[in-house]
Amino acid sequence: MELFYNSINRRDFLKNSLATMEIMVAGCAGFRLNWFKGKREVTNWAFLADTHISQDSNDNYRNFYPYQNLQKVIPEINTFSPDGVIIAGDLALLEGKLGDYENLKKLLNPIADKIPVFIALGNHDDRANFLQVFDKIPGEKQPVRDKLVFVVDQPPVRLIILDSLLYVNKEPGLLGEAQRQWLEFYLKKCDNTPTILCFHHTLGDGDWDLLDKLRLFHIIGPIQKVKAIIYGHSHEYRFSTFKGIHLINIPAVGYNFDDSEPVGWVEARLTAKNGYFTLHALGGNKQADGSVEKLTWR
Ligand SMILES: [Zn+2]
Repeated sequence: MELFYNSINRRDFLKNSLATMEIMVAGCAGFRLNWFKGKREVTNWAFLADTHISQDSNDNYRNFYPYQNLQKVIPEINTFSPDGVIIAGDLALLEGKLGDYENLKKLLNPIADKIPVFIALGNHDDRANFLQVFDKIPGEKQPVRDKLVFVVDQPPVRLIILDSLLYVNKEPGLLGEAQRQWLEFYLKKCDNTPTILCFHHTLGDGDWDLLDKLRLFHIIGPIQKVKAIIYGHSHEYRFSTFKGIHLINIPAVGYNFDDSEPVGWVEARLTAKNGYFTLHALGGNKQADGSVEKLTWR
């Protein structure tokens, strides 16, 4: 059985160059979920972040057991039965060890053979180790050198999964010039489907944030089809905006840094005009469990 269906051979990936970008972007074809047929008004997604799975399934921090937390979340996602799942980075505990990813794969197994699970890497991930364990991943990797970038066309929206992993086990993140150039080129070429970006790092001004945040905003600010950015990293649940682009900080599955924050995942119903985000809190501050945030796209 293939754990992650619709696999591609990552050794076949094209090297980054403008020539190959032209070919790849020509039709702006992203990965299209294969059971989709005809016009759809809504697509449902499960967003997770910061699972922090260790090779030791008993690993714990601040009285949270990340392995057990993800184990509890999986059947909830199954019940929701979304079109896809996105984990916004920091899959692994600290250094992205092979054993961390083997445990993660084991945990994802009950959903990954039915629902495509897309992954953005975080600062506690190791790209090579991740790819060694997750050798079959859904979607088509975009031609960005040394980065894992995916486009998922799931009407009525498009999701672009970017890679902000800069150094393993150090805080800051960076998209980098090649990825930014690819993104700008892709966004200018593709149709006006409402587009949501997803990656790991937060968008503040700290040394632990996405270091090329301003360059990213410079690109996407004027491109109206970009409606939202979904990310993790802070282990906080927050909504804010930049030039009308919604910035959605997904809570951690593994553990919080502060008692006031929930631990859990977020269910999203996405339409061409709106996003409805429902918190599923399984630990930490559960006061907002079940609360729905309705966002209107710019
Ligand atoms: Zn992080």
